[in-house]
Amino acid sequence: MIAENLHRIEQEIQESCALVSRNPQDITMVAVTKSVDSMTANELVELGVTDLAENRVDKLLEKKQNLSQHQQLHWHLIGNLQRRKVKLIINEIDYFHALDSLRLAQEIQKRAERPINCFIEVNVSGEESKHGIKPEELHSFIKELADLDKVKIVGLMTMAPYEASQQSVRKIFATLKQLQESVKNQNLQYAPCTELSMGMSQDFKTAIEEGATFVRIGTALFKKG
Ligand SMILES: *Cc1c(COP(=O)(O)O)cnc(C)c1O
Repeated sequence: MIAENLHRIEQEIQESCALVSRNPQDITMVAVTKSVDSMTANELVELGVTDLAENRVDKLLEKKQNLSQHQQLHWHLIGNLQRRKVKLIINEIDYFHALDSLRLAQEIQKRAERPINCFIEVNVSGEESKHGIKPEELHSFIKELADLDKVKIVGLMTMAPYEASQQSVRKIFATLKQLQESVKNQNLQYAPCTELSMGMSQDFKTAIEEGATFVRIGTALFKKG
């Protein structure tokens, strides 16, 4: 069942790429394993998945430990991170997808033993329940990170509202793409900002059409039937 789901998702990624003349190799499918146990995550890895994500620090550490026989995995923390937990996790991950404050960036700077690949989470939709910085604050926020050599801004991340129409989801993703390009075009060494983390089970096809390079997929991998 997981194999079938994975195969279907990979096919859909290819189809979405074909629609807009993109190379499927430019898309990283990040498997969000927060709803399953380590054994199920291991099944995915045995099927060739290389990128795993959790939204909680303790769960990520637990899965990483349980899957430690697999050396080649990339670990992604996708949920928001409390400052007091930074020291536990920051040197254990390959990507952090939810940077949204200067104080958090400063704590990462203090604890990291190497530059950490970070996505800035942007609240494009304006939904109050969402984390992330406001689009109009993005450029001043990035300026504030200039001296933090352990915080490498690889790209931007957003989440579309669950209830939104496909049309408004598309607009949100297109806006994030524009923001990403405007940062990239500044050619900042600490903020290459070439990547876009957007799209989940229900909207990854739209996200790919709008330029996503990392899609974060959970439920679609594990659903039955
Ligand atoms: C849970 C989660 C996902 C995956 O969502 P699905 O709808 O299960 O694909 C992606 N990104 C974040 C930040 C999440 O918390």
